[in-house]
Amino acid sequence: MKISILTLFCEMFEGYFNTSIAKRAIENGHLDVETVDIRAFSTDKHKKTDDYPFGGGAGLVMTSQPIFDAMTHVQKNNSNAKVIYLSPQGVTLDYKIARELAQEEGLILLCGHYEGVDQRVIDELCDMELSIGDYVLTGGEIPAMALVDTMMRFIPGVVGNEDVHVDESFEDGMLEYPQYTRPADFRGNKVPEVLLSGHHKKIQEWRRKKQLEKTQKVRPDLISDTRTKDKKLKS
Ligand code: SAM
Repeated sequence: MKISILTLFCEMFEGYFNTSIAKRAIENGHLDVETVDIRAFSTDKHKKTDDYPFGGGAGLVMTSQPIFDAMTHVQKNNSNAKVIYLSPQGVTLDYKIARELAQEEGLILLCGHYEGVDQRVIDELCDMELSIGDYVLTGGEIPAMALVDTMMRFIPGVVGNEDVHVDESFEDGMLEYPQYTRPADFRGNKVPEVLLSGHHKKIQEWRRKKQLEKTQKVRPDLISDTRTKDKKLKS
């Protein structure tokens, strides 16, 4: 998948794309990533990319011209890409959206800053507005990384073992069970006996019970969603 990221702060992505699974995904050819500096496309003599909002109000708004020109540039080599504006006003990212986006041939991610972008950019260039939650960050760069990070896990081969999704939180409408690793006794705090038993069925039952307890405690909404879905399937 080709991912083009339009941003005023390309340097923010250097650490992320040079580390761990994202780095490996690029090296293995699963991801082809470019970060594009919006400022480089500004025709303003001072390379300005923002201006005061019409109608007044606090802050600055990113202007249309550099973004339209940067978009034309990246679309030449990422022509079938879905264009996403990272925005607190978008639909909220979840694993279903991440899984769907992983099927795309390409993505163009537009990162806003300041008070956001001129509405004409959104209306004319973007296919989708995507939020990472009900809070406001200073820029779209961290949301873009969050999107890439969760979405690439659904690209076959990126995380290696395909079973990783099966046991993951949200996949079956619940949070994951607790995980332990060696040593079995850490400062007197012991791993639950059942996990050392080698009894596969009992381990499964214990894990399911723990999943339910945790989900019921912190995310009861997930359980009711699963039950509603089950009922719909049966009727
Ligand atoms: N004035 C905008 C509003 O109230 O909707 C917020 C602008 S925010 C300070 C600057 C940029 O950060 C946005 O253009 C967007 O790209 C990004 N951003 C902030 N919060 C976000 C979120 N929850 N999800 C995705 N992007 C976000």
